[in-house]
Amino acid sequence: MGNNGNRVDPRTGAHPAQTASGRRRVLLLNASWEPLGAVAFHRAVVLLVGGKAELVAGEAEGRLLHSEHRVVPAPSVIQLCVYVHVPFRARAPMTRAGLMGRDRHRCVYCGARADTIDHVVPRSRGGGHGWENCVACCGPCNRRKADRLLEELGWRLPAAPSAPRGRHFGLLAGAVAPDPQWLPYLGEGAA
Ligand SMILES: [Zn+2]
Repeated sequence: MGNNGNRVDPRTGAHPAQTASGRRRVLLLNASWEPLGAVAFHRAVVLLVGGKAELVAGEAEGRLLHSEHRVVPAPSVIQLCVYVHVPFRARAPMTRAGLMGRDRHRCVYCGARADTIDHVVPRSRGGGHGWENCVACCGPCNRRKADRLLEELGWRLPAAPSAPRGRHFGLLAGAVAPDPQWLPYLGEGAA
């Protein structure tokens, strides 16, 4: 879409939406437009060529892929033609990157840039290591809080911490650098 930085490099095939190992990924949307996840590039091409999915966004001006039966634009976002019911999925495991993403890299206590993780109920006092008890925290707040409870400090949380919602969250928690073309389909979590 006129974004040169988003094109496949014709010599190397390099593309912004790559995993750390360099494999390109494609955003897969359900027929309901709900993001389902990132699939391998070759898997996306198989879905397209097999008529299981349609191209939503791709390298329209870029390289064309010559499959056995037809020619398709190199996809960035594809959509399943038929809705698939996705059963309840286990929530995302808590990771440092995921936690920082949820809290926008801001200390929940003072709003400064966060570079530590605070256990709201300290582990030494029985607090768990999970989404509900961990928050992004700046170093000074973390040191001041130490092993005390919020009530003992008179501190409050702006909101009860919880697991991030949205099946695509894991995509954005550091596992995959999202292709800019994905962002319109990922909703608020993409910011
Ligand atoms: Zn702070």
